Amino acid sequence: MRIARYVADDGDPRYGIVELEQDAGGHPDSIAAISGDPLAGAVNYTGERVALDDVRLVSPVIPRSKVVAIGKNYAAHAAEFNSTVPTEPLTFLKPNTSVIGPGEPILYPPETENLHFEGELAIVIGRICRRVPAERAADVIFGYTIANDVTCRDLQAKDKQWSRAKGYDSFCPLGPWIVTNLGLDEVADLEISTTLNGEPRQSSTTSLMVYGIPRLIEFVTSFTTLLPGDVILTGTPEGVGPMLPGDSVSVTIEGIGTLTNPVVAED
Ligand code: MG
Repeated sequence: MRIARYVADDGDPRYGIVELEQDAGGHPDSIAAISGDPLAGAVNYTGERVALDDVRLVSPVIPRSKVVAIGKNYAAHAAEFNSTVPTEPLTFLKPNTSVIGPGEPILYPPETENLHFEGELAIVIGRICRRVPAERAADVIFGYTIANDVTCRDLQAKDKQWSRAKGYDSFCPLGPWIVTNLGLDEVADLEISTTLNGEPRQSSTTSLMVYGIPRLIEFVTSFTTLLPGDVILTGTPEGVGPMLPGDSVSVTIEGIGTLTNPVVAED
């Protein structure tokens, strides 16, 4: 099931179930509206259906408290910065105010001269949890979406720690929707790719993660409580690179979809 948040006719964001023409027996690309918040409890179809083209998708989730991101979780990405993989997962936080949705602009700040894309698989947490053993990780996962861990590479080096370089408003595009029916075995081997203006930049598979999803959830919840709607970014493969105002960046993950955002100079 694909759960999206969308705005129609400039109303408030609503949740809906996305049905694509490619689905067996599916409808033309459309959203079936649901009542309530699927992260908070049971939902019901309202009976309303709108064409996907007639709505504006927004971030499928606003993290309740935080985005926890993982650094250097693909060996080839660590190597492109002359680094090695850490001996345990390397974490940092992105504020929930950095989250934007599909199609919304990544704002190029005046303080940087080297803004990078990082395409990543994102985990959406479904329940309050702390100290989750790896073998129970599936119990706390609501679903998966796509993220772009936008980074000011120059400020990351200058500041030594990464809260500014990765925490600007608009630096965490999420979407286009949350897929809830992928098992841990399936997400452990998905193709992930990034294009800039249609040109291939990153191409890898989630099977090359150093630390898999169960270990990441175990590690993150060893030090912090995760709330429903919190998000874990699982790290980026090699091939990261610069974006400029006017560019369009797309991250595609097999079985989930494509997240596309324009880059726009911040006023
Ligand atoms: Mg990253």
